[in-house]
Amino acid sequence: MSDHRKERTLVIIKPDGVQRSLIGEIVGRFERVGLKLVGLKFMVPDAAQVEEHYTLDPEWKRKVGEKAIESYKKKGQTPPSEDPNVIGNAVVERLKNYMTSGPAVLMVWQGAHAVELVRKLVGGTEPRSSDVGTIRGDFVLDSYSMADTDDRAIRNLIHASGTVDEAKQELALWFGEKEVVEYRLVAESILYDVNLDGILE
Ligand code: GDP
Ligand code: MG
Repeated sequence: MSDHRKERTLVIIKPDGVQRSLIGEIVGRFERVGLKLVGLKFMVPDAAQVEEHYTLDPEWKRKVGEKAIESYKKKGQTPPSEDPNVIGNAVVERLKNYMTSGPAVLMVWQGAHAVELVRKLVGGTEPRSSDVGTIRGDFVLDSYSMADTDDRAIRNLIHASGTVDEAKQELALWFGEKEVVEYRLVAESILYDVNLDGILE
């Protein structure tokens, strides 16, 4: 049986998040929901690793391309190509420029429903339309239309794994086994213990 407390997810505070001085704010949001930080590093991501990250799912390029073509058409614009893979490749190139532009914070967060909770707190991909109260909704204003006009990746402060499987693959890419620390956080007792013994004196 899998222990729900052991679910892990990868979060990257992208270079714009570091430049906006939002490291503390972002870390605080995951801490306060009850998740446990088990891995942390500060580095300038390497272009090859960024490419690998965004192509771990061989379907991702095509899906992102299809999404972009649809959004061009919805706006009454002609997409630069009708081939989703061509658009997907262009998005990956933009992401490489963005993610290697400065230091980023890479983190492993652990706890029940870690993947789902982190995505909920992070908000939708486009800050312009992501919900109020989410990190992307509260702290930045970028849009697909601005990013496309300027031929760059949408700046949305954070990456967070989309599914448990994606998280496993991404964590294996960015963190060695020895870089993740197994430890007990005292707050876990109140979050997970079946019997709340030992509180009253
Ligand atoms: P996420 O899981 O919410 O981060 O979104 P995706 O996995 O779909 O996309 C990964 C990253 O690529 C996003 O966070 C954006 O920075 C960028 N991105 C995705 N789709 C587009 C797009 O259509 N146009 C632009 N300019 N950037 C995109
Ligand atoms: Mg994603």
